[in-house]
Amino acid sequence: MGYYSDLDDFFGDDQQAEEHHQEDLYKEQLKAAAKKRAVQIEVAKHLKAEVTGSKVEVKCLCCRDVFTARIADRKRGWAKYCSKSCKAQKQMKK
Ligand SMILES: [Zn+2]
Repeated sequence: MGYYSDLDDFFGDDQQAEEHHQEDLYKEQLKAAAKKRAVQIEVAKHLKAEVTGSKVEVKCLCCRDVFTARIADRKRGWAKYCSKSCKAQKQMKK
């Protein structure tokens, strides 16, 4: 092997190493992008739930009836009773 072929090999290896490095960077970027997208989807879901007023089934704390309440209300600590009369009853017992 002469000097020039050694030089070619050297550059060849270097090129490959560089490609591997780029590949790793690309994978890292993909991972970061996927993570970011997952967060964005969660945020979008959350916002959509707030906007569309997604419902959830909950049990009335008074009569144990199952009723649907808005998730947004539940988050505020509301919608614990199926009706105003149940709420009034429970609060009167306190
Ligand atoms: Zn009730």
